[in-house]
Amino acid sequence: MKQLAMLFLAGFAASAAAAPSINVVPPDGARFLQQQRFDLRVEGQGTGPYSASLSIDGVPQAFTSGKQNTSATDGISDVAKGWGGFNVRGYASGEPGWHTISADFADATGTAHVSSRFQIVDAFGRDDNGGRRAKNVIIMLGDGMGVAHRTAARLVKYGVTGGQPDGWLNMDRFPGTGLVSTHSLNSIVTDSAPGMACYATGNHSNNGQEGVYPAHVTNAFYAPRVEYMAEYLHRVKGASLGLVTTADVEDATPAANAVHTANRNEGTGICDQYLDESDAEGSGAYGTGLSVLMGGGRRWFLPSGTFGSSRSAGTDYEALPADLLTGWSLPASAAGAKDPGRNLLADFQARGFSYADSKTSLDGLVAGGAPQKLLGLFGYGNMNVALDKISARRGVSSAVVDAYHAPDQPMLDEMTDAALKVLSRNRSGFVLMIEGAHIDKQSHLMDADRAVGETIEFDNAVGVAKRWADRLGDTVIVVLADHECSGFSLIGALAGGLANLKATPPDNTKFDPSSTPARQGKVGTYDAAGFPRYQINKSDGYPESMDIDGKLLFGFGADGDRFEGWLSKPLPIIDSLLPSVIKSELAAKGYSGSPAGRAEKDFGFFVRGQVPGDQAVHTASDIPVSAYSTGSQAWRSFTGVQTNTDVFFKLMRAALGSDADVD
Ligand SMILES: [Zn+2]
Repeated sequence: MKQLAMLFLAGFAASAAAAPSINVVPPDGARFLQQQRFDLRVEGQGTGPYSASLSIDGVPQAFTSGKQNTSATDGISDVAKGWGGFNVRGYASGEPGWHTISADFADATGTAHVSSRFQIVDAFGRDDNGGRRAKNVIIMLGDGMGVAHRTAARLVKYGVTGGQPDGWLNMDRFPGTGLVSTHSLNSIVTDSAPGMACYATGNHSNNGQEGVYPAHVTNAFYAPRVEYMAEYLHRVKGASLGLVTTADVEDATPAANAVHTANRNEGTGICDQYLDESDAEGSGAYGTGLSVLMGGGRRWFLPSGTFGSSRSAGTDYEALPADLLTGWSLPASAAGAKDPGRNLLADFQARGFSYADSKTSLDGLVAGGAPQKLLGLFGYGNMNVALDKISARRGVSSAVVDAYHAPDQPMLDEMTDAALKVLSRNRSGFVLMIEGAHIDKQSHLMDADRAVGETIEFDNAVGVAKRWADRLGDTVIVVLADHECSGFSLIGALAGGLANLKATPPDNTKFDPSSTPARQGKVGTYDAAGFPRYQINKSDGYPESMDIDGKLLFGFGADGDRFEGWLSKPLPIIDSLLPSVIKSELAAKGYSGSPAGRAEKDFGFFVRGQVPGDQAVHTASDIPVSAYSTGSQAWRSFTGVQTNTDVFFKLMRAALGSDADVD
């Protein structure tokens, strides 16, 4: 009855006596570049056997999979829950303007109809910015970085005198600054998977998903795909892709440039797909052109059973459907297999990647001529944050990096320089994504000092990218975030309804508002804050200490429960993205798994967060974008307020210009 009522509401009354439910993707309002590939899918839930039809602008389309009048349909739909599906893989259109999809799905009880519209965007018209096409695209992604993170990094690094900043960050100096809305396909508050994928595809995804549309299929890697910027530019002009992150390389932000999956956590399959769809032989016929992959995440490259391996069959993917391979011009070698015992490290090396496992070996690889392809895995899971790496380099303490089994890690700016040495060898250009991952991760953990240190490290990488853009010419750089994390902003929406909220018993007996915790009284507000002045180490550029007289204090508007002591925290919280063996070791060494269990519980005051649990969350706030370009005025197009998917079209327009050969 519930389903029936919904169908009436949706306007299907005429045929809804007992019709199945129906979905079609791409979702209504999707935008694509001319010739950008995407999959169409109509699926329904009901009682088999099923049949379906789909037309575009009235022209019937032949499904590439889905047997009519069967219950099994395409063989990949969630039959156990009554789903059937029909697909058109690898569709593309060259005709700018709006197009209409019309689809029917019939089961044993009736027929449901759905229609949606998509737009093809002209990528090849002369843009208004003048100058030449951008050969190279660099996306600097400060994960979770809002306006406040940028301000904090600037204040710590440069200070303020008489109301005037004593210096500006590299990203502050970029000429084209605007705002970007960050919503995903299914929520105002995005996670990092759609947060990055929208810049790389021009399309919104559901939370947790990257490079795909939602679908009821039996494997996350079977979901309907949309083509990435790197795939498009590799296919039409032979561009290379570089991915550099301080996170585990399986993490959502790097993967959302190259891997198509409806589950961002399936690290085995994600890292396999990096290589299998990289077009390592350089055919230009398919894939991403991945030539640089750097970060943490060695655990996915080691066969299961060896120390630090996280590979498992449960996080891998089975052979991709035949029509997916055909529609995306993928060779049989890219089909995928459940192979937790795979030595992915050896496979990368066999296909031409030089491998670095430390800063020392990275320096050795790029000294006097960079390799053709570069794989750098500097930790088993997430890399360590800037302040812990710097502490080791200064000889203050290497306890944290040693405990992570990663004693010799490069800084993000050093990785950026190495990546550009490799990528600049390709005269056809490149797409490079650089992620400062721990701005987000440390904000979740409400460790302000580490988040600020990470923002300084990220800005150093921005400076390196800018110098390369000046040297190479014809390069566009955008500095942005996928979303804000933890900040002074809207933290979500009421769950469970208003009546449920009103019926909830009071929760007012645990605190006494008339008492002020001693450390809360230490917060200087307004003029009591003054102008904090950090001592910056002359050789490495980071603060000598985050604990100075009058240090900056931070609040978290989207916070979880924690104890706050205002002192910098000697140990980081155990990263979630680490092999379990290292997590256990860290726990045994006294590292806490959660902010509420940090040492401050012995001296700080308890802060009851506004969201459940003990981690801060992403917010729906707009994020700042700053753009720079050489050889063109492409930076101009990023000023003003824009939606996240706009960024893709602006970058692609800058890259393809008026006379790109794309036929
Ligand atoms: Zn996050």
